[in-house]
Amino acid sequence: MAAKILVVAEFRGGKFKKGSLECVAEAARRKGELGGGDVVALVIGGADAKAAAASLGKQGADRVLAASADWLEHFNSDSYSKIATNVAKAESAEYVFVAATLDGKDIASRIAAGLDAGYAPDVTQLAVEGGTLTFVRPVYAGKAYAHVSLSTATKVVSIRPNSVPTAESEGGDAAVADADLGISEGDIKSKVTSVEAKGTDKVDLTEASVIVSGGRGLKGPEHFELLETFADTIGATVGASRAVVDAGWRPHSDQVGQTGKTVSPNLYFAIGISGAIQHLAGMSTSKTIVAVNKDADAPIFKVADYGIVGDLFEVMPRMTEEVKKLKG
Ligand SMILES: Cc1cc2nc3c(=O)[nH]c(=O)nc-3n(C[C@H](O)[C@H](O)[C@H](O)COP(=O)(O)OP(=O)(O)OC[C@H]3O[C@@H](n4cnc5c(N)ncnc54)[C@H](O)[C@@H]3O)c2cc1C
Repeated sequence: MAAKILVVAEFRGGKFKKGSLECVAEAARRKGELGGGDVVALVIGGADAKAAAASLGKQGADRVLAASADWLEHFNSDSYSKIATNVAKAESAEYVFVAATLDGKDIASRIAAGLDAGYAPDVTQLAVEGGTLTFVRPVYAGKAYAHVSLSTATKVVSIRPNSVPTAESEGGDAAVADADLGISEGDIKSKVTSVEAKGTDKVDLTEASVIVSGGRGLKGPEHFELLETFADTIGATVGASRAVVDAGWRPHSDQVGQTGKTVSPNLYFAIGISGAIQHLAGMSTSKTIVAVNKDADAPIFKVADYGIVGDLFEVMPRMTEEVKKLKG
């Protein structure tokens, strides 16, 4: 059966990105409403990616195609997007889903161009109307939501991580077959020879379900210890505003906002952050927002679900203490 939805699943550091699992699960949830057809996942990478491919059946993939070769071990926008385009054509896919991660956004637009397809980027909600998918995506730095439908025969969609759930009941493994790449190593203009990943065991901000972000209100890098302790207690990842990144208190990889990472966790703590529009652009789609700020008029309180007006140096140790008590 032809692919109704082709999901390009990202395999990095020995596992699939959570956003990709969400894409497969969402495709499986929607295929019935779209009149059937297979959910086919495409995995591009080295031998380890192929070995893990069958597990995508647990999220609802009917079949998995593995594009596996030594020269595909490292992400390369050129080769990955060409292979995905070729596979989408061969499978006559109506939809192509990609997680809106950094690499996902990189290839999704190239795939859309290669397929001459309409593209809905960074969507946070999907619905089926009149037998076709429609999308909602934040625009103008999260100040408005655009409702989008695509009129092309093939449609490419990137879904913001943490916007849709993974599968609730896990299925079995899916059948895996080799994908017809349609290109060879010689067709690719650039080659990634190695990737030096920064050694950290913290959950990436874009995948974290709880984030504790700190701003200039912390007064200095040494006080981020307060947030690290609180984050450890609740199993959260620490983020930051640009002001503290520019000041050199935190690495750029921690920055949330328009020129940092876009996050959509279940719970977002903004501690000593004013709530400038550029910060909101990166976190306003968080499900629940908690703000701690000593200024009752700080803009962050306009988007916060819960707010504490107070001095963070008093509030944070008490919050940590209370959570520890609750956890026993
Ligand atoms: C093109 C462009 C792109 C940008 N991109 C980003 C981006 O990606 N991400 C981003 O974050 N910003 C971005 N900015 C910067 C943004 O405009 C703000 O300057 C920045 O977000 C402010 O950071 P802040 O809230 O930490 O600092 P401030 O605005 O200085 O706010 C500090 C807050 O801490 C509170 N505070 C102080 N002391 C305490 C205390 N003891 N207890 C409790 N609260 C206290 C204050 O009341 C204040 O509200 C961008 C700006 C531009 C122009």
